[in-house]
This record gives sequence, structure tokens and C-alpha cells, in this order.
Amino acid sequence: MEEKSFVHNYKRCPECLTNLPLNAKACTSCKQKVGDADKNGLAKRAINWRGYFMLLISWTALFFYVWWAFFQ
Ligand SMILES: [Zn+2]
Repeated sequence: MEEKSFVHNYKRCPECLTNLPLNAKACTSCKQKVGDADKNGLAKRAINWRGYFMLLISWTALFFYVWWAFFQ
């Protein structure tokens, strides 16, 4: 069962705890990107998909380099 009793009309920046509107995509104070509020009213850190993607690409490139260099 999802807990519905913790409803806030604002959320807080996870970095600097500034109160932000629930629909805010970034903190007005520290410019950190923020996600949806959790049940405590604290915004989740936005997931950096581009960062994950670049990490995946770099690991794949490293894997292929090692394979090419040592197993040809
Ligand atoms: Zn902030």
C-alpha cells in the first residue's frame, strides 16, 4: 500500500534544503537539478542519464580496446 498521508505543497532541495515548488525541475538557490519529492518532502536528486550513458560507452570502449589489444 502506498502511503498517501505525507502530502506536501513544496519539496526541499537535497543539496541546500531550500523550499521549492513541487513542479520545480531545478533548485532556485544552488541550481542543482531536482526530481520528485519523496514522502518526507525532500526532492530526489535527478538521475544523470547522460553521465550513466557516457560511463557505459567508456567501459564498452575500454572492453573492446583490451579485447583488441590482447586477444587478437
Ligand atoms: Zn539547492
